[in-house]
Amino acid sequence: MSRFDRAAELLDLEPGLYKVLRHPEKQIIVSVPTLMDNGEVEVFTGYRVLYNTSRGPAKGGIRFDLQVTLEEVKALAAWMTWKCAVVNLPFGGSKGGVVCDPFKLSAGELERLTRRYTAGIIATLGPDSDVPAPDVNTNERVMAWVMDTYSMHMRHTVTAVVTGKPVEMGGSLGRREATGRGCMIVTKEALKHLGMPVQGTTIAVQGFGNVGSIAAQLLQREGCKIVAISDKSGGYYNKGGIDLSAALAHVKQHRGLEGFRGGDQISNDDLLTLDVDVLLPAALENVITSKNASKVRARVICEGANGPTTAGADSVLDEKGIFVIPDILANAGGVTVSYFEWVQDRGGYFWDEATVNNRLTEIMTRSFADVLQLSRQHKVNMRTAAYMLSISRVATVHRLRGIYA
Ligand code: NAD
Repeated sequence: MSRFDRAAELLDLEPGLYKVLRHPEKQIIVSVPTLMDNGEVEVFTGYRVLYNTSRGPAKGGIRFDLQVTLEEVKALAAWMTWKCAVVNLPFGGSKGGVVCDPFKLSAGELERLTRRYTAGIIATLGPDSDVPAPDVNTNERVMAWVMDTYSMHMRHTVTAVVTGKPVEMGGSLGRREATGRGCMIVTKEALKHLGMPVQGTTIAVQGFGNVGSIAAQLLQREGCKIVAISDKSGGYYNKGGIDLSAALAHVKQHRGLEGFRGGDQISNDDLLTLDVDVLLPAALENVITSKNASKVRARVICEGANGPTTAGADSVLDEKGIFVIPDILANAGGVTVSYFEWVQDRGGYFWDEATVNNRLTEIMTRSFADVLQLSRQHKVNMRTAAYMLSISRVATVHRLRGIYA
């Protein structure tokens, strides 16, 4: 919210609108009774927060985790609002979650929990009102259950009620790679802006999951040199470039990078301060802090993860002249292709992968240019410019619609 406040101040938002945008529209708390395999009923707690729907249906993931709290869900729903607006999608922002440990639930328990949670929040769900997607510990299978439960209640199949579904039942080609692809596109735009060649650019990638591994492969295909990768087992550095095919094969076989021999072992903290051109954090939040930011040597940071940089680190990175592509822009490729999925479901006409990728490239490139232009105009960093752009887009719609107060 401190970043929101700074951007709102620069935009000189009128006090009433400022108050409206600082509050979520709707917060839902539901009990989720679930029949367990032992015949007993357990009651879980679920949340769904619609932060803002002025620009269109709310869009945001569902997570299953023991750490889920209403406060966290509210913050993530606000984040989705700004992310959708920065790439100019006709969506608002939302988020949901159930407090549970999904790793301790059987497949049957997980399905029953998902269906009962969906039934609990069904009044706000819908292609025109609120469209969930996968998030921490939820996946295509969970989305298929959400879609089926909603469809059963509506008495007809409604594919557009969720995104991130299996392709066979209305999912979009290119969705799995979309976030990593978006990171690749904006990294190339940043290099172009800074006059740095793509060929031979050295990159360190933290996190080798969906976002990190795909961004690494696509950037390497463009001619960059990936010199370090990591996952929760630690980091691996190879000055000559990591053999990504070998790393992917290792992950497939061992379910992680542990024991990978294609580079010298380094810690995740060391990876962040390597002498590289681009740093791509794609794992956790709060890894670049006011404590280690002064040691970062990269010229560009592309925030694949959500919230990898703390607010306290921002000014340190600014002083060092590091060009940060902020998360709400850098990792918006995922929600952009979710939007394409929703459009395809509603039209009942599905695009080939090249069309998805070309349209993603168009939106990411244009959004990068929009944020850069604003950052130059107001002499602010890319993060503040991204917040200014998204808040002003949401604010404009509120002004046009009027506040129903
Ligand atoms: P993932 O689960 O596929 O991969 C996460 C990776 O991070 C794994 O390699 C894991 O080993 C690693 N990791 C976990 N703990 C770590 C630690 N302590 N140190 C270093 N590495 C660690 O997740 P993902 O989908 O790739 O998401 C990564 C980040 O990107 C998250 O912040 C997520 O919110 C964000 N994000 C993802 C998407 C998407 O479409 N998948 C979209 C937007 C933002």
